[in-house]
Order: sequence, then structure tokens, then C-alpha cells
Amino acid sequence: FQEPMRSLSPLHRVGAQVSEVLRLHRNQSRGEARRSVLATFEQVGFADPMRPYNAYPFELSGGMRQRAMIAMAMVAKPDLLIADEPTTALDVTTQAQVLGLIRQLQDDTGMAVIFVTHDLGVVANVADTVAVLRKGQVMEAGPVAHVIDDPRHGYTRALLAAAPAIPRDAAPSTARVSEDPILRLENVNKTYTGKGRGFFGKPEAFQAVKGVSLTVPRGKTTAIVGESGSGKSTVANIALGAITADPGSIIHFSPGPGAVVDVTSLDPTAKRRFQRQAQMVFQDPFSSLSPRMQIIDTLTEPLAIHGIGSGAERRDRAAHLLGKVGLDPSMLRRYPHAFSGGQRQRLSIARALALDPALLVCDEPTSALDLSVQAQVLTLLEEIRDEFGLSYLFISHDLAVVSRIADEVAVMRQGQIVEQAAPDVIFTAPKHPYTKALIAACLEPNYAQKVDLSAVALGAGDPQSWPGGFAMDEKSLPPLIETEPGHFVRMYA
Ligand code: ADP
Ligand code: MG
Repeated sequence: FQEPMRSLSPLHRVGAQVSEVLRLHRNQSRGEARRSVLATFEQVGFADPMRPYNAYPFELSGGMRQRAMIAMAMVAKPDLLIADEPTTALDVTTQAQVLGLIRQLQDDTGMAVIFVTHDLGVVANVADTVAVLRKGQVMEAGPVAHVIDDPRHGYTRALLAAAPAIPRDAAPSTARVSEDPILRLENVNKTYTGKGRGFFGKPEAFQAVKGVSLTVPRGKTTAIVGESGSGKSTVANIALGAITADPGSIIHFSPGPGAVVDVTSLDPTAKRRFQRQAQMVFQDPFSSLSPRMQIIDTLTEPLAIHGIGSGAERRDRAAHLLGKVGLDPSMLRRYPHAFSGGQRQRLSIARALALDPALLVCDEPTSALDLSVQAQVLTLLEEIRDEFGLSYLFISHDLAVVSRIADEVAVMRQGQIVEQAAPDVIFTAPKHPYTKALIAACLEPNYAQKVDLSAVALGAGDPQSWPGGFAMDEKSLPPLIETEPGHFVRMYA
């Protein structure tokens, strides 16, 4: 499935859930099942298979849950795999790993695959034949080489035109973003203490964020890109005070020029004020829209909680907000299920805007949406940013999305920023081997230029072997240095 939480039980450890498939369908013993599951976890790209094996789903990042679920589907070696957008929420390298893995299993076992996706880059790289569906009808079908590289139907052509792409050859500019940050993180660390026990019964500690420093200039968009599990959501939640960072981390919010609020030590009054000024937009609009509340109540609730306005004023504001996000005020009495995915994301943006915030933290706000809808939501976010003078901390695993919306991009890998610059610099003149690997893994809707998935899946390779001052390991971590004005790279000079 696209959404791993549907097939993973929140109450059981992931390893046990996947083992159960083998014990039920393949009659394997506990030990055999455990060995097969750990081997499959390694195949689907877990560097340390024991960690997901012993984890509960909530302890894994979204991408890791997706990998675990794919392992669950693959472990019993099926004859037919039906994959419904399995890689939509994954970063590019993990996607390449998963696609490469499905391919490899196909070669080994002769398994057939029905692959449902909105991503034409994926189609060009994995499919033999494709059917383009619109409103329940096939518009065009045939061998991928024909449909993707020589589409005949206007709808297929429009889809290809809407596919986002990262800039490949724009001239690097040296434009710099202004000072006056609305948000400043400095040397932020986060250690999770897991439920799992390591050897000698010690609770396992895991450092998800390591020394992250970054700013969001007022009125601008700073983006974080990185693979699943790199710590992006953790940083997002820390920025909003929803997760407490390790002691010593600095998180400063500035509601206006000159004013500074320390997010790590807010008294209750300051906390309420901060919660009005800084809001989150999530990937999955369901997490911010209650299925049992009419839209009018969802939109007026934040105002009611903060005691703002009379009932009539709140209703007016709700209607106004709906208009602002491109929906009709007549929809106020509907429930969330009566809206499409794109409309629901508009609703959650409207709700985030209800308290007139200055900062929006957007955690993969377009990752669950179809391409054309994704483009519309990005346009909306750009419009409201400019209209209301908002600032965004924008988190995504999708480089194409980031290249469009960001003024500044930080590339995160395993809790650390490895490279940071303006998007036209980072996408056209990347320096770090990891950034280069991420860019190489972006699949383009071009059958003639299929990439070697297994090569791309290797990512940047072993960090210890990176040449030219980039090499890193546990003991030796290169600093983030400014190689050119505004371009930061983690390397030894
Ligand atoms: P991203 O958003 O980049 O995919 P996350 O910030 O969600 O990454 O997770 C970063 C790392 O922290 C992952 O390895 C994840 O397993 C771990 N992690 C996240 N939340 C918890 C938690 N509540 N307990 C333990 N580990 C966690
Ligand atoms: Mg995340």
C-alpha cells in the first residue's frame, strides 16, 4: 500500500509482524522466519536490520515503515505483486532500492507486477507496458517506449508536461538571502531513547539529529531535503517545540525584527503565543483534519481554543480562509471524506492559516498528492507566502519540489547537514558526493534514458571511501565549510 500504517499494527514489533507472514504461509519455524526476515530487511535497504526488527512502527520514520511493509509483501515470494504507489512517499535513493529490489525478485522468481503510480519517471524506469487512466477509463496503453517517449493522447502529453523536474543546467547565481531570520536553529541535537533494549539491558539511545544549524530568513523558504530517516521530521517538530531537543540546542524564533523568543524555554503564556505564530502543515491531511468534524468546526476550532472573535466572526473567518485556499465557502458544512486529497491538503493549509501565523513548517506537504494536484498546492503555498509575508521551513524528499519553492536548501544525511546553498547552486553545481548521488537518483520520464537502478540504489557508497576531503566516519567528521559565498559543504578544506 501507499500508506504503511494500514498494514502494520501499531501494537507489535515490526520484526514479529513480518515473521508472522512466513509462519502462517510458509510454515516456517521461529528461527527460520527470523533469519528470512532479517535477510529481507537487508535486501530492502535497512543498514542495521536488527533495529527495525525490534522497533515498533512509530519508532521508524515514514520511509522505513514503507520499506518494512514492502519486506512483508516480498518475504513470502508471491507470484503476483500489486503495488499501489509503494514508492510515492520515499526519497529517491530508497525508491531506487525498492524498485531495483522488485526488479531483482522478478528476475529471480518470475513474479508478475502490477505497479500503480502517478510518477512517469518511475513508469519509464520499471514498466514493460503501461496504461494511462483518467476518470476510470484508459486513455492510452502500450509498450512504455511508445507511450512515454511518443505519446499520442493529449492527456498523456499533459501529464508529461506537468511532471516536475530539477534544473539540470541553469547558470549558478550568487544571489543571497537576506539576514533577519525568523527562525534560527543552532547546534541542534536529538537523541531518542528507544523502547528496545540493547545488550546488557541498557535502553538503546539513537541520535537522530546531530549538530544541525540553519536559519529561515523572514519571508523566505528554507528547505530540508534528505532520505527517509535522515531526521527531517524530527527537526520540523523541534522547530515548533513539539519535540524537545537535547540540552544545549538553540532554537530561536523571532516574531518581528529584533525580537527573539527561546523556543526551548517557553512559559505557558509565551507558548500559546508561539503556537499562534508558528504552525505545521503535514504530509497526510488526515492527521490534521478530524473525520468527525465539519470543515467549519475544523477551521474555527483554533480560534475558539485561543478565544479569538465571536461565533459569527469565526464563521466569517472560516469562509474567508476557504476562499483563500481556492475552495468554495459553500463547502463549510462538509466532512473531510467528501474532499479529494488535494482539497484536503488545501483545508489543512487553511486551518494552519486560521491564527494568522508568521511561520509555517511544512513537512512533506505535497508528497501524498498526484502531480497536477501537487503543482497546484505548491502554487497555493507560494501565493499565500507572498500575500501574507509568511516564512516557510519546507521539508521534502522530492528534489524537484524543493528546486521550485526554496530560496535555500539544506541536504540532510543521517541527522547531519552535508551541503547547503541556494537551489540553483545545489542542483546544478553540487559538490558533496551524497548530494550528487541524490540528484543522480531522480528518475526522469524518458524511456530512452533509463537509469541503472541498482547502481543508483547504491547511493553515494561508503562514506569512509569518499575521496577528496569528504570521507567521514564515527571518529572523524569533516566540518561544514563555506567553499564559495553561501555554499556550505561538509568536507576538509
Ligand atoms: P525523516 O523525517 O527524515 O524521515 P525522522 O525525523 O522521522 O526522519 O526520523 C529520524 C530517525 O529518528 C529515524 O531513524 C527514526 O527511526 C528515528 N525516530 C523518529 N522518531 C522516533 C521515536 N519516537 N523514537 C525512536 N526513534 C525515533
Ligand atoms: Mg519525515
